[in-house]
Amino acid sequence: MHILHEPLKQKPKCRVELHVHLDGAIRPETIWEVMRRKGMKLPGNGSLADLKVALKVQEPQDLKFMLEAFQIFLPAIRGDLEVIERIAYEFVEDEARESVAYCEVRFCPHLLLPASPHVGGATNGAVDGANGDVEVTTDQVLEAVLRGLARGEQEFDTKVRVILCCLRGQSEFSWDLLRLCEEYRDRGVVGIDLAGDEACREDMIDPVDVAVFEAAREKGIHRTVHAGEAGSAECVKIALDTFGAERIGHGYRVIENEDIYQRCLKEKVHFEVCPHSSYLTGAIKSLVSPSKRHPVLRFVEDGASFSINTDDPTLTSTRLCDEYALLNSWGFTEAHITRANFQAALHSFLPPEEKRELIAQLREAYGIIFEAPPSTTASPSASSPSTTRTSTPPLKPSVTFGTWAERA
Ligand SMILES: [Zn+2]
Repeated sequence: MHILHEPLKQKPKCRVELHVHLDGAIRPETIWEVMRRKGMKLPGNGSLADLKVALKVQEPQDLKFMLEAFQIFLPAIRGDLEVIERIAYEFVEDEARESVAYCEVRFCPHLLLPASPHVGGATNGAVDGANGDVEVTTDQVLEAVLRGLARGEQEFDTKVRVILCCLRGQSEFSWDLLRLCEEYRDRGVVGIDLAGDEACREDMIDPVDVAVFEAAREKGIHRTVHAGEAGSAECVKIALDTFGAERIGHGYRVIENEDIYQRCLKEKVHFEVCPHSSYLTGAIKSLVSPSKRHPVLRFVEDGASFSINTDDPTLTSTRLCDEYALLNSWGFTEAHITRANFQAALHSFLPPEEKRELIAQLREAYGIIFEAPPSTTASPSASSPSTTRTSTPPLKPSVTFGTWAERA
């Protein structure tokens, strides 16, 4: 007997992702095709399978090792606006496949400029092209990304906005990044980030980055900071107090300092958790607790605000469904996952009206009922709990029933 099985034709967009790097979320197939077309040396025997093996970080390493994997493919992409636009477009398609309603993708346009010895000194973000005759600017790189995202949003109905990354140790880009945040805030850029290896000793904090984040705060540009991943709980405190971070990228090691952790719970600090990546960067391995129990378990038990993210899917070889599956294997239920998605929406960097729309979209997707529950008594008194509940006007028109029986 044959049983016909057709997959679902439509799935509700019910997920929100806040922490994923565009240059760490490129399809291996695209990298392979572009590298072959450009005659660049591919790893192994040059097959797609060998490239996938080379890209995937197999064992927990340190963050530096993980970031080095970018060097395999970044040269194929840098300065190529057509490829950059394609990557952004394909990213939206991949997010849509993962049922993502809204995503904030981050990158540093300076790292996508053509490789050039002048890149470090390019204060206006313009360098000579790979051929020496084409000039590519950070504005053009950003515009290519925004074009790809807009085309993707149009076609796949997943909204994606951009966070621009400042890089620790490369603060020569930071003011230009702030300029881009300001100039493109109405065209899809919603925030600024500080990424790269954590330097959390006060004397290692770059005053340029501090000044840029202070200016971002004054201009109303949203801020997130990678902290408490390789660095200690103190880095989380510095991200909040010195950089005015509204969200923390990773933040796992915050649980090593109970005072800082309790403060974060009290202030409802949002942690952008990336489960697989946290192992592969060695962040969990470096926890001082002997059990190495993942901090997200503590977050969920304590009602901390967090989202579930992929970080660098090209290197982790995971999609959101794999991140969710890992958390499910640790005992997460659909309620935990749902809450994480609502927390992500609530802490997104969207303007208030769009944030309200996103939360309404999630409510619809999860089938959250707006109508007041039917009363269990025939004639509820003015002080009954059901009256108290219905005193808040429902968000949608509703029908009121006197009794449960009347409902039929
Ligand atoms: Zn990251």
